[in-house]
Amino acid sequence: MPFRAPSECADRILAGDDRATSSEDLLAYLSGDVDVWELMAAADRVRRHRFGNRVHLCSIVNAKEGGCPEDCGFCSQSKYHSTHAKAGKFIPTEAAVEASAKAAERYATALGLVTATRGLSDGGPDLERMIAAVRAVREAGHTEAHGSFGFLSDEALDRLVEAGLTELNHNLETGRTFFSKIVSTHTYDERIDTIRRAKAKGLRTCVGGIFGMGEGPADRVELAEALRELDVDEVPLNFLVSIEGTRLADAEPLPPMEMLRIIAGFRLFLPRQNIFIAAGRTHLGQALPLMFAAGASGMMVGDFLTTPNRTVEDDLRMLDELGLVPLRCGEDRPELSTPAGSARRLPVVA
Ligand code: SF4
Repeated sequence: MPFRAPSECADRILAGDDRATSSEDLLAYLSGDVDVWELMAAADRVRRHRFGNRVHLCSIVNAKEGGCPEDCGFCSQSKYHSTHAKAGKFIPTEAAVEASAKAAERYATALGLVTATRGLSDGGPDLERMIAAVRAVREAGHTEAHGSFGFLSDEALDRLVEAGLTELNHNLETGRTFFSKIVSTHTYDERIDTIRRAKAKGLRTCVGGIFGMGEGPADRVELAEALRELDVDEVPLNFLVSIEGTRLADAEPLPPMEMLRIIAGFRLFLPRQNIFIAAGRTHLGQALPLMFAAGASGMMVGDFLTTPNRTVEDDLRMLDELGLVPLRCGEDRPELSTPAGSARRLPVVA
Protein backbone atom coordinates (compact mmCIF):
# COMPACT_ATOMS: atom_id res chain seq x y z
CA MET A 1 0.00 0.00 0.00
CA PRO A 2 1.51 3.37 -0.99
CA PHE A 3 1.90 5.94 1.74
CA ARG A 4 3.11 9.50 2.13
CA ALA A 5 6.46 10.29 3.64
CA PRO A 6 6.09 11.71 7.17
CA SER A 7 7.79 14.95 6.08
CA GLU A 8 5.15 15.43 3.38
CA CYS A 9 2.37 14.94 5.92
CA ALA A 10 4.07 17.46 8.20
CA ASP A 11 4.34 19.98 5.32
CA ARG A 12 0.64 19.65 4.63
CA ILE A 13 -0.30 19.90 8.31
CA LEU A 14 1.76 23.07 8.67
CA ALA A 15 -0.10 24.39 5.63
CA GLY A 16 -3.39 23.84 7.46
CA ASP A 17 -4.55 20.34 6.54
CA ASP A 18 -5.17 18.61 9.89
CA ARG A 19 -6.14 15.41 8.10
CA ALA A 20 -3.09 15.18 5.89
CA THR A 21 -2.06 11.86 7.43
CA SER A 22 -4.32 9.08 6.18
CA SER A 23 -5.10 5.81 7.95
CA GLU A 24 -2.90 4.05 5.38
CA ASP A 25 -0.05 6.42 6.19
CA LEU A 26 -0.46 5.80 9.90
CA LEU A 27 -0.59 2.04 9.43
CA ALA A 28 2.67 2.18 7.51
CA TYR A 29 4.28 4.34 10.20
CA LEU A 30 3.13 2.10 13.04
CA SER A 31 4.09 -1.05 11.15
CA GLY A 32 7.71 0.07 10.91
CA ASP A 33 7.76 0.92 7.20
CA VAL A 34 9.44 4.24 7.98
CA ASP A 35 12.55 4.89 10.01
CA VAL A 36 11.49 5.96 13.49
CA TRP A 37 13.85 8.94 13.52
CA GLU A 38 12.39 10.20 10.24
CA LEU A 39 8.92 9.82 11.74
CA MET A 40 9.90 11.67 14.90
CA ALA A 41 11.49 14.52 12.97
CA ALA A 42 8.20 15.13 11.15
CA ALA A 43 6.14 14.78 14.34
CA ASP A 44 8.38 17.21 16.16
CA ARG A 45 7.86 19.85 13.48
CA VAL A 46 4.12 19.51 13.97
CA ARG A 47 4.42 19.67 17.76
CA ARG A 48 6.52 22.83 17.64
CA HIS A 49 4.23 24.46 15.11
CA ARG A 50 1.20 23.82 17.27
CA PHE A 51 2.57 24.08 20.80
CA GLY A 52 5.88 25.90 20.60
CA ASN A 53 7.86 25.24 23.77
CA ARG A 54 4.81 24.83 25.94
CA VAL A 55 3.67 21.66 27.62
CA HIS A 56 0.61 20.66 29.55
CA LEU A 57 0.89 18.98 32.88
CA CYS A 58 -2.01 17.35 34.65
CA SER A 59 -2.46 15.20 37.72
CA ILE A 60 -4.99 12.68 38.88
CA VAL A 61 -6.18 11.43 42.22
CA ASN A 62 -7.89 8.17 42.96
CA ALA A 63 -11.27 9.40 44.17
CA LYS A 64 -12.57 5.88 44.76
CA GLU A 65 -10.16 2.99 44.65
CA GLY A 66 -10.73 -0.64 43.72
CA GLY A 67 -13.74 -2.93 43.64
CA CYS A 68 -14.81 -1.87 40.16
CA PRO A 69 -17.53 -4.13 38.70
CA GLU A 70 -15.99 -3.94 35.20
CA ASP A 71 -13.46 -6.49 33.95
CA CYS A 72 -10.88 -4.45 32.00
CA GLY A 73 -7.99 -6.88 31.62
CA PHE A 74 -5.24 -4.37 32.35
CA CYS A 75 -6.77 -2.81 35.45
CA SER A 76 -5.64 -3.38 39.01
CA GLN A 77 -8.94 -1.98 40.27
CA SER A 78 -11.28 -4.50 38.69
CA LYS A 79 -13.06 -6.74 41.18
CA TYR A 80 -12.19 -9.63 38.85
CA HIS A 81 -8.53 -9.19 39.71
CA SER A 82 -6.74 -9.91 42.93
CA THR A 83 -4.16 -7.11 43.20
CA HIS A 84 -2.67 -4.67 45.67
CA ALA A 85 -5.55 -2.24 44.96
CA LYS A 86 -8.26 -2.83 47.53
CA ALA A 87 -11.81 -1.54 47.43
CA GLY A 88 -11.94 1.77 49.27
CA LYS A 89 -14.25 4.66 50.02
CA PHE A 90 -14.83 7.85 48.07
CA ILE A 91 -12.35 10.62 48.68
CA PRO A 92 -13.51 13.24 51.21
CA THR A 93 -14.12 16.65 49.65
CA GLU A 94 -11.32 18.28 51.67
CA ALA A 95 -8.85 15.68 50.40
CA ALA A 96 -9.85 16.46 46.82
CA VAL A 97 -9.13 20.14 47.41
CA GLU A 98 -5.78 19.25 49.01
CA ALA A 99 -4.92 17.10 45.99
CA SER A 100 -5.79 20.01 43.73
CA ALA A 101 -3.49 22.37 45.67
CA LYS A 102 -0.72 19.79 45.43
CA ALA A 103 -1.33 19.37 41.70
CA ALA A 104 -1.04 23.14 41.21
CA GLU A 105 2.31 23.11 43.02
CA ARG A 106 3.42 20.61 40.38
CA TYR A 107 2.38 23.03 37.65
CA ALA A 108 -0.56 20.83 36.73
CA THR A 109 -3.40 22.82 35.20
CA ALA A 110 -6.02 20.30 36.18
CA LEU A 111 -6.77 17.67 38.73
CA GLY A 112 -8.62 14.65 37.45
CA LEU A 113 -10.87 12.98 40.00
CA VAL A 114 -10.98 9.32 39.00
CA THR A 115 -13.39 6.75 40.37
CA ALA A 116 -13.11 3.01 39.88
CA THR A 117 -16.79 2.67 39.11
CA ARG A 118 -18.96 1.58 36.22
CA GLY A 119 -20.49 5.04 36.48
CA LEU A 120 -22.25 7.36 38.87
CA SER A 121 -25.98 6.69 39.18
CA ASP A 122 -28.54 9.45 39.15
CA GLY A 123 -29.94 10.11 42.59
CA GLY A 124 -27.22 8.06 44.28
CA PRO A 125 -24.81 9.22 46.98
CA ASP A 126 -21.74 8.62 44.81
CA LEU A 127 -22.81 11.18 42.24
CA GLU A 128 -23.56 13.68 45.01
CA ARG A 129 -20.10 13.10 46.50
CA MET A 130 -18.38 13.76 43.22
CA ILE A 131 -20.51 16.81 42.48
CA ALA A 132 -19.47 18.20 45.88
CA ALA A 133 -15.80 17.41 45.20
CA VAL A 134 -15.90 19.02 41.75
CA ARG A 135 -17.55 22.13 43.16
CA ALA A 136 -15.02 22.37 45.99
CA VAL A 137 -12.03 21.99 43.65
CA ARG A 138 -13.48 24.57 41.31
CA GLU A 139 -14.19 27.04 44.09
CA ALA A 140 -10.74 26.59 45.63
CA GLY A 141 -9.35 27.70 42.27
CA HIS A 142 -6.02 25.88 42.37
CA THR A 143 -6.71 23.88 39.22
CA GLU A 144 -9.51 23.01 36.89
CA ALA A 145 -11.69 20.11 37.98
CA HIS A 146 -11.67 17.20 35.57
CA GLY A 147 -13.29 13.84 36.12
CA SER A 148 -13.27 10.23 35.08
CA PHE A 149 -16.35 8.60 36.47
CA GLY A 150 -17.38 5.95 33.95
CA PHE A 151 -20.82 6.08 32.43
CA LEU A 152 -22.99 9.10 33.17
CA SER A 153 -26.53 10.06 32.25
CA ASP A 154 -27.35 13.37 30.63
CA GLU A 155 -28.71 14.57 33.93
CA ALA A 156 -25.52 13.62 35.77
CA LEU A 157 -23.45 15.40 33.12
CA ASP A 158 -25.59 18.53 33.50
CA ARG A 159 -25.11 18.55 37.23
CA LEU A 160 -21.37 18.00 37.02
CA VAL A 161 -21.04 20.81 34.50
CA GLU A 162 -23.08 23.07 36.74
CA ALA A 163 -20.73 22.22 39.63
CA GLY A 164 -17.73 23.28 37.57
CA LEU A 165 -16.48 20.22 35.72
CA THR A 166 -14.67 21.37 32.60
CA GLU A 167 -13.41 18.14 31.09
CA LEU A 168 -14.37 14.49 31.15
CA ASN A 169 -11.91 11.64 30.72
CA HIS A 170 -13.28 8.47 29.21
CA ASN A 171 -10.62 6.41 27.50
CA LEU A 172 -11.39 4.11 24.60
CA GLU A 173 -8.42 1.96 25.69
CA THR A 174 -7.74 0.45 22.25
CA GLY A 175 -9.24 -0.04 18.80
CA ARG A 176 -12.76 -1.33 18.40
CA THR A 177 -11.75 -4.79 17.14
CA PHE A 178 -9.30 -5.50 19.95
CA PHE A 179 -11.49 -4.00 22.68
CA SER A 180 -13.57 -7.15 23.18
CA LYS A 181 -10.39 -9.09 23.99
CA ILE A 182 -9.74 -6.73 26.88
CA VAL A 183 -13.20 -5.89 28.23
CA SER A 184 -16.40 -7.95 28.26
CA THR A 185 -18.63 -6.11 30.74
CA HIS A 186 -19.34 -3.13 28.52
CA THR A 187 -19.06 -2.22 24.87
CA TYR A 188 -17.03 0.19 22.78
CA ASP A 189 -20.23 1.89 21.71
CA GLU A 190 -21.22 2.59 25.29
CA ARG A 191 -17.93 4.41 25.73
CA ILE A 192 -18.36 6.35 22.51
CA ASP A 193 -21.89 7.31 23.47
CA THR A 194 -20.69 8.78 26.78
CA ILE A 195 -17.99 10.81 25.02
CA ARG A 196 -20.45 12.16 22.47
CA ARG A 197 -22.94 13.16 25.14
CA ALA A 198 -20.21 14.87 27.19
CA LYS A 199 -19.24 16.89 24.13
CA ALA A 200 -22.87 17.81 23.57
CA LYS A 201 -22.92 19.26 27.09
CA GLY A 202 -19.98 21.49 26.25
CA LEU A 203 -17.39 19.50 28.15
CA ARG A 204 -13.92 19.11 26.77
CA THR A 205 -13.02 15.48 26.37
CA CYS A 206 -9.89 13.59 27.28
CA VAL A 207 -9.82 10.25 25.51
CA GLY A 208 -6.92 7.96 24.90
CA GLY A 209 -5.73 4.42 25.17
CA ILE A 210 -3.22 1.92 26.38
CA PHE A 211 -0.53 0.29 24.28
CA GLY A 212 1.27 -2.96 24.90
CA MET A 213 -1.76 -5.12 25.65
CA GLY A 214 -1.09 -7.44 22.71
CA GLU A 215 -2.72 -5.24 20.10
CA GLY A 216 -1.17 -4.77 16.67
CA PRO A 217 -0.59 -1.76 14.41
CA ALA A 218 -4.04 -2.05 12.82
CA ASP A 219 -5.68 -1.92 16.28
CA ARG A 220 -3.69 1.19 17.09
CA VAL A 221 -4.83 2.78 13.83
CA GLU A 222 -8.45 1.96 14.71
CA LEU A 223 -8.03 3.78 18.01
CA ALA A 224 -6.51 6.82 16.28
CA GLU A 225 -9.37 6.86 13.77
CA ALA A 226 -11.95 6.80 16.55
CA LEU A 227 -10.22 9.70 18.31
CA ARG A 228 -10.11 11.72 15.10
CA GLU A 229 -13.73 10.96 14.38
CA LEU A 230 -14.79 12.01 17.88
CA ASP A 231 -12.63 15.14 17.67
CA VAL A 232 -11.54 14.84 21.28
CA ASP A 233 -9.44 17.54 22.92
CA GLU A 234 -6.80 15.68 24.87
CA VAL A 235 -5.30 12.31 24.09
CA PRO A 236 -3.58 10.48 26.95
CA LEU A 237 -1.29 7.78 25.65
CA ASN A 238 -0.62 5.10 28.25
CA PHE A 239 1.77 2.20 28.02
CA LEU A 240 0.81 -0.91 29.90
CA VAL A 241 2.29 -1.28 33.33
CA SER A 242 1.57 -4.95 33.90
CA ILE A 243 0.30 -5.51 37.39
CA GLU A 244 0.42 -8.76 39.27
CA GLY A 245 -3.01 -10.28 39.64
CA THR A 246 -4.43 -8.82 36.43
CA ARG A 247 -5.08 -10.77 33.24
CA LEU A 248 -2.21 -8.93 31.57
CA ALA A 249 0.26 -9.51 34.37
CA ASP A 250 2.73 -11.27 32.09
CA ALA A 251 2.77 -8.72 29.28
CA GLU A 252 6.24 -7.36 28.53
CA PRO A 253 6.72 -3.59 28.30
CA LEU A 254 6.95 -2.22 24.77
CA PRO A 255 10.48 -1.34 23.62
CA PRO A 256 11.20 2.40 23.93
CA MET A 257 11.58 2.98 20.19
CA GLU A 258 8.21 1.36 19.53
CA MET A 259 6.68 3.66 22.14
CA LEU A 260 8.23 6.66 20.39
CA ARG A 261 6.95 5.39 17.05
CA ILE A 262 3.41 5.28 18.45
CA ILE A 263 3.65 8.78 19.90
CA ALA A 264 5.00 10.18 16.62
CA GLY A 265 2.39 8.41 14.52
CA PHE A 266 -0.42 9.71 16.71
CA ARG A 267 1.00 13.26 16.56
CA LEU A 268 0.92 13.20 12.76
CA PHE A 269 -2.58 11.73 12.71
CA LEU A 270 -3.96 14.03 15.41
CA PRO A 271 -2.02 17.27 14.93
CA ARG A 272 -4.37 19.56 16.88
CA GLN A 273 -4.85 17.46 19.98
CA ASN A 274 -2.93 17.77 23.19
CA ILE A 275 -1.21 14.39 23.23
CA PHE A 276 0.15 13.69 26.66
CA ILE A 277 1.98 10.71 27.99
CA ALA A 278 0.67 9.12 31.14
CA ALA A 279 1.06 5.67 32.65
CA GLY A 280 4.06 3.63 31.65
CA ARG A 281 6.16 6.49 30.36
CA THR A 282 9.04 5.32 32.53
CA HIS A 283 9.27 2.30 30.18
CA LEU A 284 11.03 4.80 27.90
CA GLY A 285 14.02 4.62 30.24
CA GLN A 286 16.86 6.92 29.14
CA ALA A 287 14.80 7.83 26.06
CA LEU A 288 12.15 9.54 28.19
CA PRO A 289 12.86 13.14 27.09
CA LEU A 290 12.49 12.01 23.47
CA MET A 291 8.74 11.70 24.00
CA PHE A 292 8.57 15.44 23.31
CA ALA A 293 10.75 15.10 20.21
CA ALA A 294 8.28 12.42 19.11
CA GLY A 295 5.41 14.89 19.35
CA ALA A 296 4.05 14.71 22.90
CA SER A 297 2.73 18.04 24.13
CA GLY A 298 2.26 17.14 27.76
CA MET A 299 2.59 14.56 30.47
CA MET A 300 0.93 13.46 33.63
CA VAL A 301 2.86 14.39 36.74
CA GLY A 302 2.67 12.77 40.14
CA ASP A 303 1.66 9.25 40.90
CA PHE A 304 -0.86 7.30 38.85
CA LEU A 305 -3.94 5.68 40.34
CA THR A 306 -2.33 2.61 41.83
CA THR A 307 1.26 2.80 40.59
CA PRO A 308 4.07 5.30 41.28
CA ASN A 309 5.51 7.72 38.74
CA ARG A 310 8.87 9.47 38.61
CA THR A 311 9.28 12.24 41.12
CA VAL A 312 7.81 15.58 40.21
CA GLU A 313 11.23 17.17 40.87
CA ASP A 314 12.80 14.95 38.22
CA ASP A 315 10.06 15.78 35.73
CA LEU A 316 10.33 19.54 36.32
CA ARG A 317 14.10 19.37 36.04
CA MET A 318 13.75 17.49 32.75
CA LEU A 319 11.43 20.18 31.35
CA ASP A 320 13.74 22.94 32.50
CA GLU A 321 16.74 21.31 30.87
CA LEU A 322 14.77 20.81 27.66
CA GLY A 323 13.63 24.44 27.59
CA LEU A 324 9.98 23.45 27.82
CA VAL A 325 7.58 25.57 29.83
CA PRO A 326 4.39 24.41 31.56
CA LEU A 327 1.23 26.30 30.73
CA ARG A 328 -0.47 27.93 33.66
CA CYS A 329 -3.94 27.10 34.90
CA GLY A 330 -6.68 28.99 33.13
CA GLU A 331 -4.50 29.31 30.08
CA ASP A 332 -4.62 25.73 29.16
CA ARG A 333 -5.64 25.77 25.52
CA PRO A 334 -2.57 25.19 23.46
CA GLU A 335 -2.91 28.19 21.19
CA LEU A 336 0.20 29.85 20.01
CA SER A 337 -1.61 33.15 20.48
CA THR A 338 -0.88 32.82 24.21
CA PRO A 339 1.05 35.99 25.08
CA ALA A 340 4.76 35.37 25.29
CA GLY A 341 6.02 35.22 28.82
CA SER A 342 2.65 34.49 30.35
CA ALA A 343 3.45 30.87 31.00
CA ARG A 344 4.66 30.20 34.48
CA ARG A 345 8.33 29.87 34.95
CA LEU A 346 9.69 26.67 36.29
CA PRO A 347 11.10 26.80 39.76
CA VAL A 348 14.78 26.18 40.16
CA VAL A 349 15.00 22.57 41.22
CA ALA A 350 17.86 22.04 43.60
S1 SF4 B 1 -13.91 0.65 34.30
FE1 SF4 B 1 -12.03 1.72 34.89
S2 SF4 B 1 -11.69 1.22 37.05
FE2 SF4 B 1 -13.19 -0.24 36.25
S3 SF4 B 1 -11.99 -2.03 35.66
FE3 SF4 B 1 -12.23 -0.74 33.82
S4 SF4 B 1 -10.40 0.62 33.81
FE4 SF4 B 1 -10.57 -0.30 35.87
